[in-house]
Amino acid sequence: MKIERLDIDGYEEVLRVEDPDLRLLAFIAVHSTRLGPAAGGMRMRPYADERAALHDVLRLSRGMTYKNAAADLPLGGGKAVVVGDPAHDKSPAMLAALGRAIATLDGRYWTAEDMGMSPEDMAVMAAETPYVAGLASGQFASGDPSPITARGVFNAIGVTARRALARTDLSGLTIAVQGLGHVGEHLCRQLADAGCGLIVADTDAGRADRVARGCGGQVVAPDEIVAQGADVFAPCAVGGILNERSIPTLKVGAVAGGANNQLETLDDGDRLHAHGILYAPDYIVNGGGIINVATEILRVEDREPYVTRHLKSLEATLERVLETAKQEDVSPARVADRTVEAILAEKRPA
Ligand code: NAD
Repeated sequence: MKIERLDIDGYEEVLRVEDPDLRLLAFIAVHSTRLGPAAGGMRMRPYADERAALHDVLRLSRGMTYKNAAADLPLGGGKAVVVGDPAHDKSPAMLAALGRAIATLDGRYWTAEDMGMSPEDMAVMAAETPYVAGLASGQFASGDPSPITARGVFNAIGVTARRALARTDLSGLTIAVQGLGHVGEHLCRQLADAGCGLIVADTDAGRADRVARGCGGQVVAPDEIVAQGADVFAPCAVGGILNERSIPTLKVGAVAGGANNQLETLDDGDRLHAHGILYAPDYIVNGGGIINVATEILRVEDREPYVTRHLKSLEATLERVLETAKQEDVSPARVADRTVEAILAEKRPA
């Protein structure tokens, strides 16, 4: 295995990991350890080329710095990406090599599951290095993060509804939920319990019918969910859903959902603001998942109070960001970035 260190401006460490015998090509990026060891999942995808993989790892690791800081966690931002089709190209030997590559960073980067990776894959890497979270079993194993992510999204919808719609409780509101996977399904259950009406969509029609039956929601086609008339739109599927094309079609007062990278560009946050739609920044809304993973990395003995305290802190951060955005009449997405950058600047080494 060959590990090459790439010198990339703005990043503490970037490794290019290659082993042709194992058909392994991967990048590990440590964006920042200013707040603590860098933490962020490992993703495996059939990237078009090496440049696309490097671009993704840089973007995602930086995103983790922001997400971890917003969640008030003592963790920095990092990410790993592996080039290949997870269904055909992954092997135990490849995962073991990745574990050894992570070990060379001596705990400056912690990995966990992301797209194309499973708890079983994490276990293979954990045999080579202790810096692996997202394990299915073990003393501090944190398991599936999505119920905690959904709790955070539910809280964020509460904050957003209060501010955008002057509602103190969610009962009677209509929420349009896009994507009914791990996060979306848990979220729908909580919203239904709180008395919300639901409009739902998933590209898996069977899943949409099942969740709608369970939560009393109305199913619409995947390409119709964005333009549904509702109080809040909750994207819980893919990134880039809020863009120049979709935003003019929105018929909601607010957007708050679990999906990562909802804005195609930061300008789309401005566009939402100009349309009078309150946007709850995604990396604050969906921080519950990393809070859950953090309990494993930080070996938290008493998980529930830790999770609850950090979810409360996320809510408070969201309140602050939305209030500042209102005072300054600017997009909450820009205020969120600025808020996190201020937290990081405070921790700048002397
Ligand atoms: P998932 O794969 O379990 O679910 C995604 C669902 O969306 C699937 O049911 C899929 O069929 C559906 N879908 C895909 N494209 C769609 C489209 N165009 N329209 C409608 N439905 C579509 O994923 P998840 O774990 O629920 O994560 C959902 C989003 O939340 C992702 O963006 C993920 O990165 C983000 N997120 C998840 C967590 C977590 O704890 N799982 C934490 C933070 C962020």
